[in-house]
Amino acid sequence: MDVAVIGGSLAGLQAALTLGRARRRVVLFDDGQPRNRAAEHVHNYLGAEDPAPGELLAAGRRQVAAYGVEIRDARVDDVTVNDAGFVVDGVPVRAVVLATGLWDELPDVPGVAEGWGRSVVACPHCHGWEVRDQPLVQLGMRGAPDRSVARALLLSRWSSDVVLCTDGDALTDAQLERLSVAGVKVRTERVAEVSAPRVVLESGEVLAPERVFVVVRQHQQSDLAERLGCQVADGAVVADEGGRTTVPGVYAVGTTAAPALLAIGAAGHASTAAVAVHNDLLELDLGGGW
Ligand SMILES: Cc1cc2nc3c(=O)[nH]c(=O)nc-3n(C[C@H](O)[C@H](O)[C@H](O)COP(=O)(O)OP(=O)(O)OC[C@H]3O[C@@H](n4cnc5c(N)ncnc54)[C@H](O)[C@@H]3O)c2cc1C
Repeated sequence: MDVAVIGGSLAGLQAALTLGRARRRVVLFDDGQPRNRAAEHVHNYLGAEDPAPGELLAAGRRQVAAYGVEIRDARVDDVTVNDAGFVVDGVPVRAVVLATGLWDELPDVPGVAEGWGRSVVACPHCHGWEVRDQPLVQLGMRGAPDRSVARALLLSRWSSDVVLCTDGDALTDAQLERLSVAGVKVRTERVAEVSAPRVVLESGEVLAPERVFVVVRQHQQSDLAERLGCQVADGAVVADEGGRTTVPGVYAVGTTAAPALLAIGAAGHASTAAVAVHNDLLELDLGGGW
């Protein structure tokens, strides 16, 4: 095999598609935990009419299989390195593409996890249009008031009725002034519960937004990059524009390398990186090195 793609969500499947069409022999491993799996629809993806996450991936799987990509529904826990390249789950390959993605740490408030992906979401670019001009709550991440304020300001472009609940964090006068200019109302007391879409404050006051937006902390789903010796900084695997990590022959694509990417951005990044993988393998084919 030429390439093992580890992770079979949008980035991994797109990398496999580009490499398969380039006539590379590709094996793709996936353990079925795409980051958006709790959501009902994927929005903001050109050419796809708001499909369910699973529908989009199923179509992608059919597409890559048509180009000879071998798909294995399995988690990869280890990759070994040898003179010829790498061995992934017993399969020798020349290059490894990490498309293992992220998981979201949610605010520690009762009810948030239960509503996640439906009545509780994070990204206005993904889910803002559907609730435009409606009452919305931005629930902050306790201990990260700067991020909470930034997200509330962002959300205020989708609705003029946004309440920022800081969940106990005090805000500076400057922050309050910016929120006021944007028309965002503020509650700084602790949040007792999100019983979606209701938000119950510690005082007993109940807010009834159409949707609750939350601030999340993102973490890598897999530690394979670190174990392979790749540099990881600020929660992202360090990679150049071609997805090349600091370890020759190991590439990182999609949100693995650029956590802020939306779905189509993750796929686009993977396509660009897959072209780089193909070009680098061409150099190897011709007797060069990494
Ligand atoms: C609730 C929610 C809703 C969202 N809605 C939208 C939206 O509407 N529009 C939009 O543009 N973006 C949306 N996003 C963002 C979108 O989900 C991401 O941009 C996209 O999923 C990134 O794709 P990815 O391939 O980089 O990673 P991921 O989707 O995280 O996929 C990583 C894949 O790798 C697999 N994997 C990880 N480790 C291993 C391993 N060791 N072995 C084998 N497989 C492994 C996982 O199982 C998973 O399938 C949403 C995110 C969330 C959380």
